[in-house]
Amino acid sequence: MNATLSIVVPVFNEEPGLPLLFERLYAALDKLGRRYEVVFVDDGSRDRSVAMLREQFGRRPDCTRVIVLARNVGQHMAILAAFAHTRGTYVITLDADLQNPPEEIGKIVTAMDAGADYVGTVRVRRQDVFWRKAASRIMNRLREQTTQIRITDQGCMLRGYHRGVIDAINRCTEVSTFVPALGYTFAQNPVEIEVAHAERTVGESKYSIYRLIRLNFDLMTGFSVAPLQFVSMAGIVIALLSLGFVVFLAVRRLIVGPEAEGLFTLFGIAFFLMGVLLVGLGVVGEYVGRIYEQVRQRPRYTVAAILEEDESVQHGPARGERARGAVE
Ligand code: UDP
Ligand code: MG
Repeated sequence: MNATLSIVVPVFNEEPGLPLLFERLYAALDKLGRRYEVVFVDDGSRDRSVAMLREQFGRRPDCTRVIVLARNVGQHMAILAAFAHTRGTYVITLDADLQNPPEEIGKIVTAMDAGADYVGTVRVRRQDVFWRKAASRIMNRLREQTTQIRITDQGCMLRGYHRGVIDAINRCTEVSTFVPALGYTFAQNPVEIEVAHAERTVGESKYSIYRLIRLNFDLMTGFSVAPLQFVSMAGIVIALLSLGFVVFLAVRRLIVGPEAEGLFTLFGIAFFLMGVLLVGLGVVGEYVGRIYEQVRQRPRYTVAAILEEDESVQHGPARGERARGAVE
């Protein structure tokens, strides 16, 4: 039997783009001729997104599931919330903004049929603003050198994960994560394919520079301790240089006498070292903060409602909405 598909779509204030998404996504999936479910997860939208997802559930209850989160927890945590509710053998993530064409899902399915348990994707001609492409290039290279994660285009979220990988991800309880990297760590046979990419035509990117930096910190701290090691190494190098300098000054004092010039050079060096210290402290803080969040063990997200047509009795009514306040 053909493997069943779960398509996971995080939605955060995507009201203007949803009608076209529904149209293109379901058409593309119907064409594949597989059993499928689309699992929408609303990440605390404040516009009409939830109402529109409800309407869509009304139209296609047999192959739609909607998870409504109580508040915004970020794209990656929202996807994890949806993963917990997927049932398909192949789970495919897709952004709601149609930047990754849903018509490309077929390529992922083909790769998984051929035996891949993780299908990464590379955007052939990425259609984003210049500074984001440049920053991505740097971050991809940095991650490649500091972690064991071998993915070419970490930002592309149209990806396929086999049930085995999803089950492993579902067992994780980390509070900050980066889904493509997390999935990769459990993959036995990862492959990469090329997919098309389009500009965002409706709505705007939900990532400010600040959120992008936070996301990349999650990736770096979650999958590597290289930043900490880099700080220790830099500390050792600077300490050795300083020691050499002190020895030099001591010898100079004996031969030439005390020196009082170069006051501002001293300031310059001192400020530089203070900067290095602050960076080091910040890096340590990034790890400590995440450890603190993790040990408190608060729920990572709160599910406000689940819309699904349910076969099993334990999940309540045959079709409809489960109670609010389920905490996971
Ligand atoms: N998204 C989300 N929660 C957030 C931010 C984004 O669920 O806090 C969703 C968003 O609705 C979209 C996807 O994640 O479906 C990718 O967001 P976006 O297109 O804004 O990111 P970009 O393409 O600019 O990286
Ligand atoms: Mg986008």
